[in-house]
Amino acid sequence: MQRPGEQQWSLPSIDLARCQGHGRCVEHCPTGAVILQDGRPFFIHPELCAYCGICEDLCPEGAIALSYVIGGPK
Ligand code: SF4
Repeated sequence: MQRPGEQQWSLPSIDLARCQGHGRCVEHCPTGAVILQDGRPFFIHPELCAYCGICEDLCPEGAIALSYVIGGPK
């Protein structure tokens, strides 16, 4: 996926088998990118995700993961 002005972007991946619906990701997301829908996180505004990693850090179940590229562009 691409955002205007950027080469590519990703969304955090959510393991719904691990998610217990605590909602910390929704509570602490600084951009409002994610909501709880039927007790599970859902990216209602994926274009707003800043890929900050707060949701990954705060999920007590380890259900959210951001992938990182090590080394950067050449
Ligand atoms: S990475 Fe940051 S902006 Fe994106 S959903 Fe998680 S908390 Fe929100």
